[in-house]
Amino acid sequence: MTVTTRFAPSPTGSLHVGNVRTALHNWLWARKHGGRFLLRIDDTDLERSKEEYVDAIRADLAWLGLDIDGEERQSARFALYEGEFEKLKAAGRVYACYETPEELDIRRKILLSRGLPPVYERKPGDAPVPEGVAPHWRFRLDHDAAIEWIDMVRGPQHFEPKTMSDPVVRRADGSWLYLLPSVIDDIAMGISHVVRGEDHVSNTAVQIQMFAALGEAPPHFAHEALLVGTEGKLSKRLGSLGMASLRADGIEPVALVALLARLGTSDPVEPVTDAAPLIEGIDFARFGRAPARFDEAELALLGQKILHHTDHAAVAERLPAAIGEARWNAIRPNLMTVAEAADWLPVFDGPLAPPPADAGDRAVLAAAAAAAPGIDWASDPWHALTGAVKAATGAKGRALFLPLRRALTGRDHGPDMAELLPLIDKDEAVARLAAAGGS
Ligand code: GLU
Repeated sequence: MTVTTRFAPSPTGSLHVGNVRTALHNWLWARKHGGRFLLRIDDTDLERSKEEYVDAIRADLAWLGLDIDGEERQSARFALYEGEFEKLKAAGRVYACYETPEELDIRRKILLSRGLPPVYERKPGDAPVPEGVAPHWRFRLDHDAAIEWIDMVRGPQHFEPKTMSDPVVRRADGSWLYLLPSVIDDIAMGISHVVRGEDHVSNTAVQIQMFAALGEAPPHFAHEALLVGTEGKLSKRLGSLGMASLRADGIEPVALVALLARLGTSDPVEPVTDAAPLIEGIDFARFGRAPARFDEAELALLGQKILHHTDHAAVAERLPAAIGEARWNAIRPNLMTVAEAADWLPVFDGPLAPPPADAGDRAVLAAAAAAAPGIDWASDPWHALTGAVKAATGAKGRALFLPLRRALTGRDHGPDMAELLPLIDKDEAVARLAAAGGS
């Protein structure tokens, strides 16, 4: 069996972390098994589907590094659906219905008021057919075939078809609902594993009978627990958890991948710099049943950790040319995003106007200004500088280091000065110390 998975978004909006997580798990599973990962654009709703969203979905997957082995669009496959639909109709597995939504609603309420489950009631075969009304179509569940599967996340699942409504598969205007085309495609595309959110569990119960009705064994299923935000349901805060917003914030794709791969599983989230260990480690049996909580602060922190051991080569094309390997290595522990590296350019090469020095630091800075021009920048200038200033003024500890750091970098915090100073242009450094020391 070739493992084949698919990510099947409807292009009616942009992706958010919840969708991306599903896409990622499908991709990881396919890659782990040397299989195929397909993008299936579920654009049967021609009205609401937009080309700009299709483009954005492709761009987001590429940005995340989730390469696809093929792309299919449901809107190009209507003829196939029509053919399978006709077969099911001929076999009596789909049938015409004429109720209006209002009638169905009243019926539901009556059943509920009698304490009965609001299950759709089939009409007898000889029920009169209203004239001039276009039917919609339902799939006839086989009430004698219990529905069972072993879910890769949820374990054994069991549904009683008698307690379920025959689902509508096609509207009166001929348009398709999601359920049947998805099954037809899963068969045609040889999908071996369907990985999706647990909000689809009851769809799966119905779809398992559709596979059987179409003469096929169902694929394996993994229904993952939903992702929630720090304040609850994801849907409420989609803005900041949309891909566009995360990209604009300078989030590294690998950080998002690292977090979403493991969130809600019993494996730890680790600051990996590529997906290989995540591919190796994906195991649906280790996915939890409780909702996974997505926290932007955790993402930012993970991104920062990942940057700390990201090699220059991996980010070079996004860095200013003047940030070479040594400079990158010095500043990366202080960065939240790669883009912030550019903020350090003036520190290295100027122009930089450090804030005026405190009067109490004048002596230290004057001594530094006097010593700096004679220091060999090629061999440990920071220790030479601090050594000379200490000898001249007796200053030590914070009183020695902080004024120098401020004068040289314009900041109170930053990388280890011993690592940073040799990377700062010597003339710039001498000039800054002279300005700060008042000479
Ligand atoms: N288009 C469906 C959705 O976005 C796909 C579900 C599935 O994976 O089968 O919910």
